[in-house]
Amino acid sequence: MADRQSFDDARQGFIEALGDQVVMAASGRPSWSLKGYEFLAREDAPDTVNPALWRHARVNMANGLFKVTERVYQLRGFDISNMTVIEGDSGLIVVDPLISTEVAKAAMELYFKHRPRKPVRSVIYSHSHADHWGGVRGVVDGEDVAAGRVRIIAPAGFMEEAVGENVIAGNAMSRRAQYQFGPLLPRGEKGQIDAGLGKTVSAGTITLIAPTQLIDKPVESHRIDGVDIVFELTPGAEAPSELIMYYPQFKVLNMTEIATQNMHNLLPMRGALVRDALAWSKYIAGALRRYGARSEVLIAQHNWPVWGSERVQAFLKKQRDTYKFVHDQTVRLMNHGYVGAEIAELVRMPPSLAQDWSTHGFYGHLKHNIKAIYQRYLGHYDGNPAQLEALPPVPAARKTIEYMGGAEAVLKRAREDYARGEYRWVAQVASQLVFADATHEAARALAADAYEQLGYQVESATARNALLQGAWELRNGMPKVPVTTTAAPDVIRALTLEMFFDYLGVRLDGDKARGRHIVLNWTFTDINERHLLTLENSALSHLADAESPAADATLSLTRATLDDIALQKTSFPAAMASGRIAVTGRAGAVMELLGMLDTFPPMFPLVEPRAPR
Ligand SMILES: [Zn+2]
Repeated sequence: MADRQSFDDARQGFIEALGDQVVMAASGRPSWSLKGYEFLAREDAPDTVNPALWRHARVNMANGLFKVTERVYQLRGFDISNMTVIEGDSGLIVVDPLISTEVAKAAMELYFKHRPRKPVRSVIYSHSHADHWGGVRGVVDGEDVAAGRVRIIAPAGFMEEAVGENVIAGNAMSRRAQYQFGPLLPRGEKGQIDAGLGKTVSAGTITLIAPTQLIDKPVESHRIDGVDIVFELTPGAEAPSELIMYYPQFKVLNMTEIATQNMHNLLPMRGALVRDALAWSKYIAGALRRYGARSEVLIAQHNWPVWGSERVQAFLKKQRDTYKFVHDQTVRLMNHGYVGAEIAELVRMPPSLAQDWSTHGFYGHLKHNIKAIYQRYLGHYDGNPAQLEALPPVPAARKTIEYMGGAEAVLKRAREDYARGEYRWVAQVASQLVFADATHEAARALAADAYEQLGYQVESATARNALLQGAWELRNGMPKVPVTTTAAPDVIRALTLEMFFDYLGVRLDGDKARGRHIVLNWTFTDINERHLLTLENSALSHLADAESPAADATLSLTRATLDDIALQKTSFPAAMASGRIAVTGRAGAVMELLGMLDTFPPMFPLVEPRAPR
């Protein structure tokens, strides 16, 4: 706690703060503001926040425009991510235009207040996560990109990953992300204080312009408007499509999101494919070897810089070894036969790493990361076949509570354990009470109490958010948030038709489809593509470049019509009625198939059983 280095690092090069500015979204609601975080001005942590997390949340408050070095600037605290502006000979190179256009514009305006208003000539997306590209139309105009006046550079595989990650499991991820980032929680000492990588996520207009140039070799060097940039691909670690950069003229290493001021997530709580900790460690080792001694400052697209070559190298070593240590020790114990939940209790970071704040899990969470490594290699099944036919949560909870002597007996003992501070167990057993009987108010209150105590103690901001959001919902029920379509028009338009038909497949209600056989030809008249969709055995199969002479019906439409349907501007029946979709053959077959597709609820319960169907 005596180490003040991070506070100095975060302030170095400070020019002007965002202050109490409220960035408004097109919807008329606030997109971004740091108002409500004033309580973090206090030096000492209150009893309701882990002291290390309190310190981290305070450092993350450094916000505004910062000079990194001659011709390199950063805008921090305008979103969960940073925007980096590099001054080329004739214009600007923007790295990562934040999540939404409103905050991206506001960040650029602060930059222009202090620096010449030169045009943005290049945008670089460091990776496929939306906090690194969603605000692009706030920074450049799509027509300028189309006309070749602005180029957009991204790592190989960018578009597929950027639009694909949030489609198939997107609805479940969006709901779970509310727990991870805590945007619905009140800000305060008993509420949301941080999100590890930054304060929280902006809420505004998400846009996407496809890259005009892909980096597809492991290492590529380019001179862009007089600025030399060495790009190095890092796929499969923090994101499926990602790169880091070295700017040799400025001796600046940009580790994007491969090395930030904390232990990152190997499996975000919103849910994702498990990331590769071993590859991650090797990418950092490579960056250390190639650029460490040649870097005077290390920046990233989250959090604050590290200054001085020796400190840059020490930082990279600790980042490298954090992922390597956790990976190797987890796999070692796994090979001894321990399961994830046991390994999570056994692995302790060595003091040489733990004494450095940058290795702590403020965004990631050590125990969760250990279970993720186990899952990556062995899956969620722990090898005990008792789990193969285990009862699901509600009947398991009912049986357990009944065996334990009923709800009142369990509640009595759980309260005694709560008084003794055994919050982990009380959270577990009180959750069983809630799953056995969701209407038991005293059980809900005790579970919420235990979640809160755990949330107040935990070092990880995302684990804190999850525990406090869970407690909030046990006390108040699910929040009533306005239902909006989360898919941005740019993202919908960028979906491949294969992704679209795959998504239709996961909406199919297998029971309704039982015994049905429907074959549909799809002809897209504007892009000259044909697709074949076959329902058989309760599964919807898709083939590109195919059609069947025996199809029940053939649909002719434009891609734009399909996009309008996906954006809920029209519907299949309305488009058929208006003639935007022409159907030959048996039109009823189309309606029958549509009738078998589910619509997903944006909100669903996580800390209590779902209402009976
Ligand atoms: Zn990010």
